[in-house]
Amino acid sequence: MTVIEVKNLAKRYGETVAVRDVSFSVERGEIFGILGPNGAGKTTTVECIAGLRTPDSGSITILDGSAGDPALRTRVGVQLQEGELQDKLTVREALELYSTFYPDPADWRKLVDDLGLTPKLKTRYGKLSGGQKQRLSIALALLGNPEIAILDELTTGLDPQARRDTWDLISGIRDRGVTLLLVTHFMEEAERLCDRIAVIDKGEVVALDTPAGLVQRAGDEQRIRFRP
Ligand code: ATP
Repeated sequence: MTVIEVKNLAKRYGETVAVRDVSFSVERGEIFGILGPNGAGKTTTVECIAGLRTPDSGSITILDGSAGDPALRTRVGVQLQEGELQDKLTVREALELYSTFYPDPADWRKLVDDLGLTPKLKTRYGKLSGGQKQRLSIALALLGNPEIAILDELTTGLDPQARRDTWDLISGIRDRGVTLLLVTHFMEEAERLCDRIAVIDKGEVVALDTPAGLVQRAGDEQRIRFRP
């Protein structure tokens, strides 16, 4: 069953064309990756899907609604970009505050326990390490028990161990039945985690395949070769 359908999405910022023509669909229960170099249009694409930006043209269907539909707010969890949380808020305060946004929030104590953040409950956001901030942002994205979670560049800037830990977390989230849309720079990450990957370059999908299919094609196509 298709849970996200993006058709001919286009978005520009003034003169800059961020997304030229992007189409793909995501099936329930899969981890779908969006891979591409800096400035390819990945974030703009997921921000349109999350309803945070209005596309110039094209259509986005999510579950049984349209992107930005208020009824989808609790069904689609979006990972916050670093810096959107108040530095002075403690982990516990952030979780309590965000829990009030949902009619039936998940048990945040269990979430932080699963994410290994319990010892940091009294720590202020500004004092967390990069990996801990990422974990908190995952917890916040999952607080509403979403059917779909959108995670943008979750492991950029993390050390190799923290990156591997985050991969385990993401696999665990999928095992709970959450459909994941994952933005990444890293072919290795996409290869390990994703069922299917759309490679975006200059605002267009240049390849859409399984990881194995992409690796096979990477030898032939310069544009889909990335290094971590
Ligand atoms: P990165 O991997 O570096 O995060 P990305 O693939 O997510 O890149 P986007 O952030 O979507 O790419 O950016 C696509 C293009 O749109 C880039 O040229 C970028 O400079 C431009 N852009 C993004 N956000 C804005 C904005 N708010 N105002 C103006 N231009 C923007």
